[in-house]
Amino acid sequence: MTVLTDVDAAIRRLREEVCRLHAELLRYQLVVWTAGNVSARVPGRDLLVIKPSGVAYDELTPENMVVCDLNGRVVDGDHAPSSDTDAQAYVYRHMPHVGGVVHTHSTYATAWASRGEPIPCVLTMMADEFGGDIPVGPFALIGDDSIGRGIVDTLSGNRSPAVLMRNHGVFSIGRTARAAVKAAVMCEDVARTVHIARQLGHPLPIAERDINSLFDRYQNVYGQR
Ligand SMILES: [Zn+2]
Repeated sequence: MTVLTDVDAAIRRLREEVCRLHAELLRYQLVVWTAGNVSARVPGRDLLVIKPSGVAYDELTPENMVVCDLNGRVVDGDHAPSSDTDAQAYVYRHMPHVGGVVHTHSTYATAWASRGEPIPCVLTMMADEFGGDIPVGPFALIGDDSIGRGIVDTLSGNRSPAVLMRNHGVFSIGRTARAAVKAAVMCEDVARTVHIARQLGHPLPIAERDINSLFDRYQNVYGQR
C-alpha cells in the first residue's frame, strides 16, 4: 500500500508541475492557441503526465492533466491526451535518462525547421546548452511512430537536447520537464539571434575545441552547486 501512495504523491506533484510549466511556454511566447505541450515521466514507473488535447492554456489545471502509460494509453484523466503523446511516449520508451519532453512550434526555430537547416553553433550560449549545432530531424507525419523515432534517432548520441523536426517544429528533452522547457526556451532564443545575425553577414563559427570546453564547463561547473 505504501508503494501505491508514493506513486500517487509523485503523480499529484507532476500534475502540478506539468500544468505550471505550460505557463512558461506562454511567458516566452513559444506557443499560440493550443499548439505546444509539456510532459514528464513518473520516476520509476512506465507512466507519463501530459497536457490534455485541445484545451486552452488558460484552462489548464493540475486535475485536467492526463496520465498515460508509455504506449500512450490513458491511465488516469477525464480528457484525451495531447496528440503528441505517442511521439513523447516513444521518446520515454527509448531514452531512459529523459524525464521531460516539450514540443513547440516557436517561430524562429520552426523557420529553421522549415528550411531543414540546423542552427549552427556560433554563440557561446549554444555551446553551453547544446554542445554544438541544433540538429534537424526527418519529415514525419503524426499517426504512427515516425515522429518519436525521428526525435530519438536524431538526439541519440547528440549533445543537443533539442531537435528541429523538418517542416514542423521543436522537440526538446531534459532530465526533468523543467530542463526540457529550458532547452525549448534557449532553442528559440538562439534561433532568433542567429537568424538576425544572418541578415547582415555570416556568423563566425566557434572552434570545436572551444565548444567542447564551454559545454563541459556549463554542464559540470556552472551555477549553484
Ligand atoms: Zn507540432
